[in-house]
Amino acid sequence: MMGRVAIVTGGTRGIGEAISLALRDRGCTVVANYGGNDEKARIFTEATGIAAIKWDVGDHQACLDGCAAVADQFGPVDIVINNAGITRDGVLAKMSFDDWNEVMRINLGGCFNMAKATFGGMRNRGWGRIVNIGSVNGQAGQYGQVNYAAAKSGIHGFTKALAQEGAKFGVTVNAIAPGYVDTDMVAAVPAPVLEKIVAKIPVGRLGHAYEIARAVAFLCSENASFMTGSTLSVNGGQHMY
Ligand code: NDP
Repeated sequence: MMGRVAIVTGGTRGIGEAISLALRDRGCTVVANYGGNDEKARIFTEATGIAAIKWDVGDHQACLDGCAAVADQFGPVDIVINNAGITRDGVLAKMSFDDWNEVMRINLGGCFNMAKATFGGMRNRGWGRIVNIGSVNGQAGQYGQVNYAAAKSGIHGFTKALAQEGAKFGVTVNAIAPGYVDTDMVAAVPAPVLEKIVAKIPVGRLGHAYEIARAVAFLCSENASFMTGSTLSVNGGQHMY
C-alpha cells in the first residue's frame, strides 16, 4: 500500500479517523474528507499531519470536484473508503420525509457519488480499492431506523454490484458491516437503549474504532487481492453474521 493515494470520507473523527490513521501507518497518502465540523478537522490535521478537506458526500458535483482536487494535489486516487454517515432515527410514524431523504442522500448517495468520481480512473489504471462502511443494522434491521437500515442494506447491494464491474480490472469493492462502536454516533443513543444493545453483543462490549480500521486496512492490502463483493462482519458476534 506504500504510496497509494486514499480518500477516507468522514475521515476526521470516529471510525473514519481510525481508518485514516491505519492507512497512513501502512504507507498511504491519506486525505480525510469531512462534512462540517471544521474545528475537529483542524485538530485532526494538527495532530496527524493528514490533510482534511470539506465537502458534502451527498452532493454529486462536490464529490466530483473534491476528488479532482485531491488527484491534482496528491495524484490519482487508488483507494476510497466510503465511511461518512449520519443517523436521523425515529419510528416510521415520526420519521419525516426529510429524515428519510437525508440519510439516503448521504449514506447511500455518497457511495455512488464517490464511486462516480474515482472508479473509472481505478479501472483504467488497473488497480483500485473501494471499501464501503455498512452496518449490522443494514443486515438485520433495527427498530426506529428504517432510513438508516435501508441505506446500509443498499450499501451491501451496491458493493456486490460494483464489485462485478471492477473484478476484471484489478478493482476490488468490499464492505464492512460494523457492529456498535464507541463513537459520537453511538454516544447519541439513549443510555437505557444502549445498555440493552450491549447486553446482546456476545463479546459484552462496544467495538473500538481501530478494530474496524484494521479490517478496512486488510481489505485495502494485497493480502485481500482475491476478495471482492464481500461484506466483512466486525461486530463482536452480534447476530453471528
Ligand atoms: P461519527 O458520527 O462519529 O462521524 C461521522 C463522520 O461522517 C464525521 O467525520 C462527519 O464529518 C462525516 N460526515 C457526516 N455527514 C457528512 C457529509 N454529508 N459529507 C461528508 N462527511 C460527512 O460516525 P461513526 O464514526 O460512528 O460512523 C462512521 C461510519 O460507520 C458511518 O457510516 C456509520 O453509519 C457507520 N457505522 C457506525 C457504527 C457505530 O456503532 N458507530 C456501527 C455501524 C456502522 P464532520 O466531523 O464534519 O461532522
